[in-house]
Amino acid sequence: MQSCENCGNKNIPENSKYCNHCGVFLKLAKQPIQFKENKSSHLKSLKETLIEGSKIIDEDEDGRLSTSKNIEYYQNLVWSYLKETTTFENEMNDEITEKEFIIHIFRILNNVKYQNDEDILNEFLVEINKIAHSSKTTNNFKIKFIFYTNIELIDSIKDKFCEMLHLFNLKIFNPNNLSFEDEKLRKDFKTEYIMLEYIAKGKSFYMMEKEAINRVYLFFGYLSFLHLFRKNVKMFRANTLSVDYNLSDIKISSIHELNEDNTFIGDEFNSYCILKDSETYEKSKLIKFSNTNLLYDFYKILMRSKNKKIIYQINEYLILYYKASNEADLDISFLKFWTLSERIIKNGIDRSDNYVINYMRKILKHYKYPKSYQMRIYYIKEKRNKLIHENISEITQNDRNVIKSVCDSLIWFLMEFEEYVKDMNEYEIFLNYFNQDNERLIEILKLINNLKQNIENN
Ligand SMILES: [Zn+2]
Repeated sequence: MQSCENCGNKNIPENSKYCNHCGVFLKLAKQPIQFKENKSSHLKSLKETLIEGSKIIDEDEDGRLSTSKNIEYYQNLVWSYLKETTTFENEMNDEITEKEFIIHIFRILNNVKYQNDEDILNEFLVEINKIAHSSKTTNNFKIKFIFYTNIELIDSIKDKFCEMLHLFNLKIFNPNNLSFEDEKLRKDFKTEYIMLEYIAKGKSFYMMEKEAINRVYLFFGYLSFLHLFRKNVKMFRANTLSVDYNLSDIKISSIHELNEDNTFIGDEFNSYCILKDSETYEKSKLIKFSNTNLLYDFYKILMRSKNKKIIYQINEYLILYYKASNEADLDISFLKFWTLSERIIKNGIDRSDNYVINYMRKILKHYKYPKSYQMRIYYIKEKRNKLIHENISEITQNDRNVIKSVCDSLIWFLMEFEEYVKDMNEYEIFLNYFNQDNERLIEILKLINNLKQNIENN
């Protein structure tokens, strides 16, 4: 016989999973993280996601787990549902970040294969409680990451720039504050450009470093995104003799890790070598900081949104946007923009080429780009196939810039309507039915969402 820690019932048959008196899932009784009430529709989606995700995990004879599919998609979704449907967030206080969650997602999804249908959600929560427990028993540590950049800051916009950095959890770091054992090294660590600082907290150096770099890339992505936003494609052409076709030229040249007192983690001479070996970039010239007010206000509004899933996605897209903008090789830059727009449009779902092309046309039309852009998409797609399958390059700057405009529009569309639209499927409806009468559509979507909320709460 088993007993129930929830109600004290001692007459539970040995093989039961549930208490025959209070109905609790026995392994979950007295666990700190529990399901919230009234989340049945989200729980249903969580369960579907777990089942779907479990199908992409392969397990070899030694129990090693792998996948050939896009696991991040499931990681993002499971993470969002976890926070939505359980007391995880209150219990954990950011002790496990989304980035660290990826260490566990393979096992979580794979375990689903071994569960009965009715136990999947409960077993999932048992697993989450195990992860939380082991995380709480190992200690967190803090690392201050500092970045050398090629950004020269004009004094007149410094205050606004710092405020903007704050939105991205970044700060300007003053190299005079570095603390050396060997003072002779100090002069080498000086720079004429700004240095950025990001403090990461976690349990894995690798994850923290990745998080810090992504923070800076996100910030760079946001700057790159708005600096040529909706400019005519002919307005940003590099000289045809040029070998540099990048649209953005802000870069990180090296990263160093500090303790809280600004001493180097590890050997400072080692950091000195990294600094000396790092590439020196010319001063960034392409990005102007003249529109910092707009930049600041817009991101601030976006961050206030309750729609965390969309914010997370927009941030991911901006990081990729930076990588595409900062690519000097025209073909590669083109491919990176193309892949980004496909990724936004498909959003983890298998879609045909035609679907993608039509979506691209629709979004260009929606934002009133010249009709010629829409017409060209088909031919650009042909060129893309030639490039990928036959390695024949016919990509022009205009082609790349048209695809960049597609990315601009897609990301802007997400930003503009995040308040009214709850997920990508709704974006599609929104885009398809968007016409002159969009006020009405916004009203309708608001009503639908209120209705959904009411159903969930009752
Ligand atoms: Zn009980």
